[in-house]
Amino acid sequence: MNILADEKNVESLLSIDDIRKDFPELSRYVHNRPLCYLDNAASTLKPQTVINVITDFYTSGYSNIHRGVYLTSQQATERYENVRSIIAEYIGAQHTSEIVFTRGATEAINLVAHSWGEYAIKEGDEILITTMEHHANIVPWQVLCEKKNAQLRIIPINDTGEIILEEFEKLLSEKTKLVSCVYASNSLGTINPIQSIIQMAKNVGATVLIDGAQAIQHIPVNMQELNCDFFVFSGHKLYAPSGTGVLYGKKALLQAMPPYQTGGDMIRRVTFEKTTYADIPARFEAGTPNIEGIIGLGEAVRYVQKCGLAAIAEREACLLEYATHRLMEIPDVRIWGTAKEKVAVISFTLGEIHPHDIGSLLDREGIAVRAGHHCTQPLWQRFAINSTTRASFAFYNTEQEIDTLVDGLKNVVSLFG
Ligand code: PMP
Repeated sequence: MNILADEKNVESLLSIDDIRKDFPELSRYVHNRPLCYLDNAASTLKPQTVINVITDFYTSGYSNIHRGVYLTSQQATERYENVRSIIAEYIGAQHTSEIVFTRGATEAINLVAHSWGEYAIKEGDEILITTMEHHANIVPWQVLCEKKNAQLRIIPINDTGEIILEEFEKLLSEKTKLVSCVYASNSLGTINPIQSIIQMAKNVGATVLIDGAQAIQHIPVNMQELNCDFFVFSGHKLYAPSGTGVLYGKKALLQAMPPYQTGGDMIRRVTFEKTTYADIPARFEAGTPNIEGIIGLGEAVRYVQKCGLAAIAEREACLLEYATHRLMEIPDVRIWGTAKEKVAVISFTLGEIHPHDIGSLLDREGIAVRAGHHCTQPLWQRFAINSTTRASFAFYNTEQEIDTLVDGLKNVVSLFG
């Protein structure tokens, strides 16, 4: 991943001018400056083709799904269900019924915590997560552990922001019922060795959930090779609409799980005395879903496949390398997260200047970065800091935008004397 490909080579794989034309927001001006969007770990911008399919659905295809006997409803159902096949293929799931649509990674993890956690976790059991988890992969397990009198245990990381596998090994025991681990950290950029983590967890019979929210847009995944039990991600970080996401679960596990939410569309038969539930995946998709969002998600995945995940990753690796190198030119910049394997996310501090001040001053120059804890407060406690500024890159970003960021930071430094 962290390969320094030569620039010309990358340019030949993907034409940056063509890519940028696909994203209309990239030609926006903010505070009279060209938008320099470097907050892709929060959300990516959307390609025109995703916008088009949603507009098309609203202008000449809109209907509710799964229940209409008329043509437009059947067509909408077909488009929605077709995305299940697109996602199954994208992540190498064996069955389309293993793909559950959710509002995002957060809802997917909550679904597992409530449904699977309710019957699988008992008093005295242990759930392992890492120090670098997003709050979405901490709080649901914390709540479950409190409810069940189970124990949440934390896998430590080293100073570069890598999981210490020997410590992980020591924490594993027959009490470990779940290992829930982020694939790539949205704060540090670290790519975790999840193949080893999954294998080690499986050796003690634990169930494994992988939070792929920061990985799915950079790294090819295959559920057969990974052999994790659950895998979750959000659409909005994958060039798709917000309010969309995916829970992948192994068929046998999902089939054994009770509903998470109840209501329309997830039932087989309802009487006032008793309700029986639909098969998976409908059992976990109560109510009218984000139909247009899911159709947009399908288009976003098609777009990524057209560009090629390998070419995307290679271009982002170059941007990461270049940005790391340029940021280090600024005295007092300290990068948090220097793992060997990283996605294009750089969290940094700049002397004593508060990240919110940095973020606000950069904004005046049209530069969008994140300032704060990035929903990983316990991670920053590990490093004894409260917050960072975070620049995160997508394949449509350019070296010139990184130069703009560096110039902006130099202006911040001179302003603060
Ligand atoms: N996990 C990770 C690693 C994330 O980066 C995010 C979003 N920043 C989430 C989980 C939660 O995703 P969402 O807010 O889309 O549900």
